[in-house]
Order: sequence, then C-alpha cells, then structure tokens
Amino acid sequence: MQLEQLGEFALIDLIKKDTINTVDSVVIGIGDDAAVLKSTPGRLQLVSTDMLVEKVHFDLSTSSAWQLGYKAIGVNLSDIAAMGGVPNHVVIAIAVPKQLPVEFVVRLYDGMKEICREFGVNIVGGDTVSSPDGLVINVTVLGDVEPDKLQRRSGASVGEFVVVTGTLGDSSCGLDLLMQGDWQNYAFATPLVTRHLVPKPQVMQGAKLATLGSTSMNDISDGLASEISEIAHASNVGVRIYSSLIPLSPELEEAAPIFGKSAVHYALYGGEDYQLLFTIDPEQFKLLAQVDIGARLTVIGEITDQSQGILLVAEDGQTCTLEAQGYNHFR
Ligand code: ADP
Ligand code: MG
Repeated sequence: MQLEQLGEFALIDLIKKDTINTVDSVVIGIGDDAAVLKSTPGRLQLVSTDMLVEKVHFDLSTSSAWQLGYKAIGVNLSDIAAMGGVPNHVVIAIAVPKQLPVEFVVRLYDGMKEICREFGVNIVGGDTVSSPDGLVINVTVLGDVEPDKLQRRSGASVGEFVVVTGTLGDSSCGLDLLMQGDWQNYAFATPLVTRHLVPKPQVMQGAKLATLGSTSMNDISDGLASEISEIAHASNVGVRIYSSLIPLSPELEEAAPIFGKSAVHYALYGGEDYQLLFTIDPEQFKLLAQVDIGARLTVIGEITDQSQGILLVAEDGQTCTLEAQGYNHFR
C-alpha cells in the first residue's frame, strides 16, 4: 500500500506503538499538540537537531529503510554524547513522497525504535508531511547532563593529550565501497560498509569520559582534521596530531589503496565516524586508561600554545599545517 492510500493519521497510528522506553519521564508522548516531559532537577537540558536529505545524506539504493532510521537517530544521539550527556527523547519530522510504500516508513521507524530501545530513548512526537521530491528526515534530540560534566569545545588547555575512541576513516571508505557497488566481492568490506550505514553512537562512553576527566569533546562527524580544528579554535590553543598514532582498522588499511587514498587520509578528511575526540590532562589519562569505558582509546597528539598552529606530524617527522577540509554543504 502507498502512503496516499493510507493517509497521515493512520500512518501516525502505525508509528505510535513501542515508542516509549522510559515510562517515568514521559507524561504525554505521541497524540497531543505537544509532548509533556519530566526533567531531572539540577541537570542541564541539551537539545540538538540534524536533518537528513535524500541524495545529499543518503541514497536509497545503498541504504535500507531500517538502516536509515537507525542512523538518523544515531547521529543525533552522538551529538548528546559529545556534550558528556545522556539522550532522553527524540522528536521526528519527516517529509515523504506520497508514492512511497507504507512498509518503507514502518521499516524506517523499526530502525529508529531499535536504536531508541538500545539507548533508553523515547520517541515523543514529530510531524508528517508530503514531499514533492525525495525523503527528508529531521530528528531533534533532547538530553541532559550534570552541569559540572558538560563537555564544551572550548575546554582544552596547553599540555593536554588529544585522544580518540575507536578507529577512524572506516565510514568514509565504506561509502566509497558502496558507491563503487561491488563491495560484496571483498572480505574486508563488510565492517566498513556497516560502520557507514549503521554507525554506533558512543553514548555511554561520552558520559563516562566526562566523569573521568575529559576537558573538551566533539563527536567526529566531519573528519578528524575538521573536528580538532574546531576544538583548537574554540579553546584558543594549538594542536599537534601525529599521523602514525591515528587508530586505523586493518580493513581500512586493506581497502584504502583501491581508491588510491591512504588510510590516514580517510581518517583525517573522511566523515561520519561518530567516534569521540577529546582532550585530557596526561596524569588524568593514566587513570582513565585503567578503566574499561567500552571503547578503545588512543592518544593521537597534544595541545600546544595557540602560536604553534594546528599541525600534522607525518610518519617521517615532517610537519605541515592541518587543513580542516570536512564536508561543507555550500562549497
Ligand atoms: P498537530 O496537528 O497538532 O501538529 P499532528 O497531527 O501533526 O498534530 O500529530 C499528531 C501527533 O503525532 C503529535 O503528537 C505528533 O507529535 C505526532 N507525530 C506526527 N508525526 C509524527 C512522526 N513522523 N513521528 C512521530 N510522531 C509524530
Ligand atoms: Mg503537526
């Protein structure tokens, strides 16, 4: 059945079930003019939104509806994680072509509901409209954080370590593999493609790091070069990143040459890893390194004086300025 046969209200009825995972914090979810939520006294509210547009952010020939739903929520949870906070609720607005099968929207919401269940997040409302051309998904996430655990970009100080979770560059190489089309022929491709289509936001990790001494944090959505530049600018510091220290997966090392790029290039300038990038005092890092936070942690550089600039030290010791060249929508 197509959406034009089902209609908006019957669709919302279909979407409505299994949307609440933490009953105590929701007074009214889907079904009234506005959602009504309980906030926790003493915690700061976090709000963030991200829009995904067909043909700009995703391609329905390479992503399933379920994967798209999972990712649309995941990228929003990642922003809350990067503030050191905990995501609680999402509001989802969709603009949908009316020829789209109802089943597609149901599968989209199945992916959304899955990740919401995983992270104890409630779907408390949204808006549904028709689109003349292409699917648009806008997710707004609400979260909260203890005031003294809040992670801003501006908190880095000279002498601190620069640290990342996980491995970098996988998602962007996964996208290249998807666009090339024959990725199923390569044994190493599956983890890369999976990291692109269904990235795992580092939610517990972000909150733990915030309690264990991180001083500034970003999620890596636009590539390491761009994200570390944002921290350096906001904190009025310089930074030195050692390319030999950047954590790379063996799969990326195998796949990168197919596209004539180095694995480090993917890590620096590729996007959508949704790992966390943070700064921390070296003594504090020694303590952190003894704790299992549920992610691999790698020191990749250090914070320097602003006058030193933002530098990349290559494997051969040569130093160059690190240019932020992540994705920019208007270039
Ligand atoms: P209103 O006309 O008051 O804006 P709607 O008819 O748009 O209300 O929506 C009815 C209810 O369904 C509201 O609670 C709204 O938040 C929710 N809702 C609408 N569309 C979506 C959606 N795509 N996902 C989740 N909730 C939705
Ligand atoms: Mg509405």
